[in-house]
Amino acid sequence: MALACPCGSEETYRACCRPYLMGEREAPDASALMRSRYTAYVRQAEPYLLRTWHPSTRPAALGLGGRTWIGLDVRDVTVDPRDPDHATVTFTAQWRDDAGLPGSMRETSRFLKEAGNWLYVDGEVS
Ligand SMILES: [Zn+2]
Repeated sequence: MALACPCGSEETYRACCRPYLMGEREAPDASALMRSRYTAYVRQAEPYLLRTWHPSTRPAALGLGGRTWIGLDVRDVTVDPRDPDHATVTFTAQWRDDAGLPGSMRETSRFLKEAGNWLYVDGEVS
C-alpha cells in the first residue's frame, strides 16, 4: 500500500507533497505550499522549510525536534483578487510531544509570490 501523504490530502505522498520537497516542482499556490511545508515538518526536511521561507523572515536554522506532527486541517485560504501575489492560509495542526501528550496550534500564515514562486512569510498563532 502506498504511503499516505502526511498533509491529509488523501493522496499518496508520491503524488502529493513529495515532488515539492524533492525540488522537482514548485507549489502552484499558497495552499499547496502550506501543505508541503507541514509535510516537511513531519519529515524534518529542514532544507525545504528554509528554501520556501521568505528571505526577510527566514531563520538561520530550525529546531525540529520535540514534536511529532500527527494531523493537519486547512481551515481557510484567502487570496485578495486585487493583490493575487499575497495569500493567507489558516490551519490547525496537531502534535504529540516527547512524553506522548497531544497538543495543537492554530495559525494564520502569510504567503507571498515572488519571481513566480510562493514563499512563507510569517504566521499569527491564534
Ligand atoms: Zn501532501
